[in-house]
Amino acid sequence: MRFVMIATYFAVIVTTLVLMSLYIIGFLSDNLYSAERVDMFAKANIIAQNVSEVWGNDASAAEERFREPADRCLAGTNIRGVVVNKSYTVLYDTNIESEMTGKIFMRDVLRRALMGEQVQMMNDSESDQKMLYIAVPVAVNGQIVGGVYLAQTVESIVTTIRTIRTSLIIFSVLITLLIGMLSLGLSYIITSPMEEFTEAAKEISKGNFSKRVKVKGHGEIAEMANALNYMCEELSQIEEKRRKFVSDASHELKTPMTGIKLICDSLVSIDNPNPEMVKEFMRDMSDEVDRLTRIVERLLVLTKLDAGGGSVKMEKSDIRLLTGHIVKKLSPIAAERNITINTDYHEDLFAPVLMDYDRLYEAVYNVLDNAVKYSPPDSMVTVDVSEKDEWVLIKITDSGPGIPEEARDRIFERFYRLDDSRARETGGTGLGLSIAKEAVVLHGGSITVSDGEDGGSVFTIILPLDNGGESTV
Ligand code: ADP
Repeated sequence: MRFVMIATYFAVIVTTLVLMSLYIIGFLSDNLYSAERVDMFAKANIIAQNVSEVWGNDASAAEERFREPADRCLAGTNIRGVVVNKSYTVLYDTNIESEMTGKIFMRDVLRRALMGEQVQMMNDSESDQKMLYIAVPVAVNGQIVGGVYLAQTVESIVTTIRTIRTSLIIFSVLITLLIGMLSLGLSYIITSPMEEFTEAAKEISKGNFSKRVKVKGHGEIAEMANALNYMCEELSQIEEKRRKFVSDASHELKTPMTGIKLICDSLVSIDNPNPEMVKEFMRDMSDEVDRLTRIVERLLVLTKLDAGGGSVKMEKSDIRLLTGHIVKKLSPIAAERNITINTDYHEDLFAPVLMDYDRLYEAVYNVLDNAVKYSPPDSMVTVDVSEKDEWVLIKITDSGPGIPEEARDRIFERFYRLDDSRARETGGTGLGLSIAKEAVVLHGGSITVSDGEDGGSVFTIILPLDNGGESTV
């Protein structure tokens, strides 16, 4: 990845620099040459104009006539100027040493100028000096009578362009080196955390959830590191919960199984047990099997809830109907210990809740079942349903021993029991309230516990009132 990043940076930078340099050089040389051309054409045309005013074909006299207008125009320059007549005979040459006056001076640019064109040409030969040639016609009374030829070296422009090109090359090389070093550093800064993340991800996939990555700075990479660390934290908590669940579940299953084993061993060790005794042992064994079944059933419910509730069928239903069914189911059991279940809600109340009936039934059943289980004989349990704002409240009040403040959150944990021996006596699995809580949360509600007015505890289940139709989650 690092190599790809550096290569990409380099490709982009070098291409940009080359294009930029080519553009600058092209633009500059165009401008410099064109300025020179314009200047020489202007001079050539002024000379042609001045010369036409004093035109004459006499070569020796012409030199005298033309010197002043030509020299005036070319003063201070190193331009060579030649004036020829229509038969290419030189009438005047600013370069006196060439001794061309009166001789034939035939050039391509002049040939075209004598045909009426304004001509410019540049020799592109690499070895020779670079020269710019200009030729314009001289006209008298609308008739072309000769031509003006100007020649000038443009070596200074060539040198300027060469200097700029050299500077640009040095500048580009320096920039490339600088960017190269920067991109090397930058790629290291970007890729080294990535490598660390990859390492961490590999470790996590092996189950090492204690792995953490270093968080540097505040940018996106730091955010990613934080997210990775948070994920590790969550995963280690989930793993911890899973381990605890497996060990708790094994422990819970082991207790009734040990009971069954004990009963069997006792039966085997007794010679000729009387039928009454065998019956008694079998009854105990049946109780232990019931307990085992209860635990397994509840574990299955929890597993379903863990998997996001499995397929939850939400339907609009009246909460009183649900509590009514549960009260009806538990009343005979309560009556065995002379406990009365009192329903306390307004008869006209209709509290529609979008619910998965079976799951919510199980949740409320577990709470009411506990209220009956933990209440003393000859006491009363109250089920109160009311509405508040957008919520429906189910309050279950018992006359039991109550739940100490510090245990009020923990009783909703899996396998948590306040008093192991008392709970076992009542046939508790320590799973009822955790199932209730998960089912209520699945319905968008909450469950809490508080002290009752005359001792005992009050379990409050809050559920959102229905404001929609039927749906399946
Ligand atoms: P269990 O099946 O053991 O009752 P739960 O999850 O239903 O398990 O309850 C967890 C623990 O909370 C119980 O073991 C019990 O100690 C305590 N508990 C639950 N409901 C009541 C109640 N109404 N009064 C007193 N203690 C309760």
